[in-house]
Amino acid sequence: MLAYKCEREGTYFAAVRPHGTTKKCACCGVETDKPLWVREHSCPACDFEADRDANAALNVLSRGLSKVGVGHAESAPAETALPASTRTVDAKRVVEPGSPALSERASGR
Ligand SMILES: [Zn+2]
Repeated sequence: MLAYKCEREGTYFAAVRPHGTTKKCACCGVETDKPLWVREHSCPACDFEADRDANAALNVLSRGLSKVGVGHAESAPAETALPASTRTVDAKRVVEPGSPALSERASGR
């Protein structure tokens, strides 16, 4: 249905794999596991914060754009929207030793 609508409106359509779009940071690409009840994306690597679904949507957009040859997968469309001023650190950011986020990064995945 979406492909038909896009063709009718003269725009691009690209189906992308949704796998990993929730885990991957739309800003830096680092993957962090989070349980379903965690509704916010908070990147331990680059401090990018967004609603969980908004982060996933940015990843879907990025995959779609690179699929149709626009932009670059590593570029972060959200980065320009980030305030350059102060930031707060909340409890979600604290990563405990032995957590999946740390062991994944340590193993190089
Ligand atoms: Zn990040």
